[in-house]
Amino acid sequence: MKRFCVNCGIEESATTPIIRGLCPKCYTEIRGLVTKPSSIELEYCKVCGGIKVHGKWVYVQNAEELRETIEDFFIELLKPSEDFILEDIEITFTPYEDSPATINLFGKLGGTKISHAITVNVSWKASLCPLCKKVVGGSYNAVVQLRYINTDSEIERFVNSIVKEFELWIKEVKPVKNGYDIMLLDASLAKRIAEAAKRKWQAVRVMESYGDTRRTSSGLRVSRFYISIRILNFKSGDYIVVNGIPYTVVSFDGSWLNLRDSSGGISRVHIDEISRNLSKYRVRKSI
Ligand SMILES: [Zn+2]
Ligand SMILES: [Zn+2]
Repeated sequence: MKRFCVNCGIEESATTPIIRGLCPKCYTEIRGLVTKPSSIELEYCKVCGGIKVHGKWVYVQNAEELRETIEDFFIELLKPSEDFILEDIEITFTPYEDSPATINLFGKLGGTKISHAITVNVSWKASLCPLCKKVVGGSYNAVVQLRYINTDSEIERFVNSIVKEFELWIKEVKPVKNGYDIMLLDASLAKRIAEAAKRKWQAVRVMESYGDTRRTSSGLRVSRFYISIRILNFKSGDYIVVNGIPYTVVSFDGSWLNLRDSSGGISRVHIDEISRNLSKYRVRKSI
């Protein structure tokens, strides 16, 4: 015997299953595919645009990432009815502006594919994320002292990529003689930058130290983490003074330096030797 929808009377068919006495259309109208709040509030950072979802701050780089984050948020929030399998959602909303969001639900009801749109009012609450709070408060707790012998496009690319990747955590990038001081909110990022430099150049000397010890308003003693990254990118023509004797760099292949003294004698020195005893050497780049 064929079954019918008790609400609209439509007969059961391959495309119209009857679920709990209702066709998909009436099921959706009467029982609903999901339980949802009529409105939600999203907290966002007015400085960086990060948003707080399920108690955690998520940092988004662009509108697409924001949409994905909001979709993930709703997927967790919406509770599908026991007959509905929620497979995906697609959301249309106005970022950072109180407005209704349209959520397209995609899934299966009684074994049949179904899509249905619902709306939820979204209100946005402006606040400050912990990182931006620190920036606004003016405190940074790590400094990368990036130094090099010769400035070249590789150095520029490296600095640009760091600034791009860690933008949210960088308080300031200050150009100094033969390098940059990069003020960071987080010491672990300073170490990551040093690792990145070591991967890029073979001849890098890294030294870590602490300084600027001070007391916070809560009485805590804090120090700033300093990491000095010295990129030994010698080029032919650079001058280097070893034990008081000046040499000219003839060539450098990333590992070995060929040096010429004033009488034309050539000596070969490994970069590790220079790196280990850097304080004993005086280095001047070619002009
Ligand atoms: Zn019906
Ligand atoms: Zn922020």
